Amino acid sequence: MSDVFVLGAGVVGMTTAYALASRGHSVTVIDAGLAPAERGASFGNGAQLSYAFTDALASPSLVANLPMYLLGRDPAFRLTPTLSPKFWGWSLRFLANSSRASFERNTIEVLKLAMESRCAFADLSSKFHFDHRSTGKLNLYSSHVALRNAEALARLKNRHGADQKILTPDEAIEREPALAGYGHAFVGALWSPFDEAGDSRLFCQNIHRLLQSDYGVKFKFDTEIKSLKTRGQKINSIVTSAGEFECERAVIALGVWSAAIAKSSGIRLPIWPMQGYSLTVPATSMAPSSSITDTTRKVVFCKIGDRLRIAGLADIGDSRATFRPDRFQTLLETARGIFPDAGDYNANLNAWTGLRPMTPNSQPIVGASKVAGLFLNCGHGSLGWTLSMATALRLAAVIN
Ligand SMILES: Cc1cc2nc3c(=O)[nH]c(=O)nc-3n(C[C@H](O)[C@H](O)[C@H](O)COP(=O)(O)OP(=O)(O)OC[C@H]3O[C@@H](n4cnc5c(N)ncnc54)[C@H](O)[C@@H]3O)c2cc1C
Repeated sequence: MSDVFVLGAGVVGMTTAYALASRGHSVTVIDAGLAPAERGASFGNGAQLSYAFTDALASPSLVANLPMYLLGRDPAFRLTPTLSPKFWGWSLRFLANSSRASFERNTIEVLKLAMESRCAFADLSSKFHFDHRSTGKLNLYSSHVALRNAEALARLKNRHGADQKILTPDEAIEREPALAGYGHAFVGALWSPFDEAGDSRLFCQNIHRLLQSDYGVKFKFDTEIKSLKTRGQKINSIVTSAGEFECERAVIALGVWSAAIAKSSGIRLPIWPMQGYSLTVPATSMAPSSSITDTTRKVVFCKIGDRLRIAGLADIGDSRATFRPDRFQTLLETARGIFPDAGDYNANLNAWTGLRPMTPNSQPIVGASKVAGLFLNCGHGSLGWTLSMATALRLAAVIN
C-alpha cells in the first residue's frame, strides 16, 4: 500500500484518512488550522446525520421562487448575484439541474450515499464518542403544497430504501411533545425515523486521536497549502507554508476551498459556497429529543449532549463567510418562536458561520481526477457530515 496525502482535516478529510489508513495506506493529513475541523464547515453545522432527507437544492420549486429570493423577500434563502464569471457558470449548471427529472435523480443518488454512510457510522459509534444519537427527524411544513410535494418525493425515496412518513400536526406533537406550543404554525410533518445526530467537530477531534494511536496517521497542522505541482499530468508535490512535500498520491478534501487548490493543477471544480449560521446554547429539559427542521425557515434544532444547536439559513452570492448579525437575529427569533423554553437564550450564543461547498447537482465530487495520483473528495454541500463516511469509503476503494 502507498503513501497518501489528505489535504484538509474537516470531516471529509478525517473520514478519508480513516478509510485509507484502515486499508493499510500510510497517510499524512495537512490542514491550515491548529486542530481538525477548526476552520471549516465541520465546526458548527446542524449536527444532522440526515440519511433520508437528501433532497437536492436545485428543484422546480426553488426556480419558481427565484424572484422572491432575488428581491430579498424570503427570510431563509438569500440570493445576491455577483459579477464573478465563476458564479454565473455555476448558476447555469445549477439551473440545468432544476428540472423535476434531475431533481429526483440527484436526490436519489445522494440518498444512496447517505444509506451507505448510515452503516459506516453505526460501526464507528462503538469505537469513539461523538454525541451520536438516534433521534429521528421531523420536517415541519407550513403550506399544503409543500407538504404534498414532500409526500410525493417521500414515496419515491421510500422505493429506494428510505422510510419516511407524513404526520398530521397532532401526530407530530404526539411524537415530539416539545412542539405542543407550535402546533398551529405547521400543516403537517415528514417523519424520518432512522435519521440520527452527532457533533461533527467532536467526531473529528476523537477520530484524530484514534488515527494517531491506532493507525499511525501523521498530521501537519498550521500548514497552509498554496498550490499543487504536476509533472507530465502527474501529481508531483504540494507547496505549503511549511515547505514543499513531494508526493505520488493526494486527495483534495478542502471543502469550499477545494476549487482554488485544484485549479493550480489545471482542474476546474464546480463548487460555490452557500453560507449558513448556527447558535449553540445550553439545552433545558424542554428541548426536543428529535431533530426538528422548520422547512420554510430552513432552520434545524438538534440536541447535542446537553446543548441545543440551532442552525441553518442559506445565502448564496458572497464567497466569504461574513459575520452577519441580522442572520443570527433571525435564528434566535425563530428559536424563541418555536421552542421558547428549549434553551437558555440569555447565555453565550456561540454564534458561528460557515460555508457549504455546493455543487450544481448537490452530489459530491468523488474519485480520480485527470491528473494521475490526484484524487477528489469534495463538494458535499449541505450534507457533508452525513455523506462523509460513504464518500471516504468509495474513494478509498479506488486508490491502490
Ligand atoms: C450552517 C450549516 C449547517 C450544516 N448542517 C449540516 C447538517 O446538519 N448535516 C450535514 O450532513 N451537513 C451539514 N452541513 C454541511 C457540512 O457541514 C459540510 O458539507 C462539511 O462540513 C464539509 O466538510 P469538509 O471536510 O469537506 O470541509 P470543511 O469542514 O470546510 O473543511 C475543510 C478544511 O480544509 C482546510 N483548508 C482549506 N483551505 C486550506 C489550505 N489552503 N491549506 C490548508 N488547509 C486548508 C480548512 O482549514 C478546513 O479544516 C452544514 C453546513 C453549514 C454551513
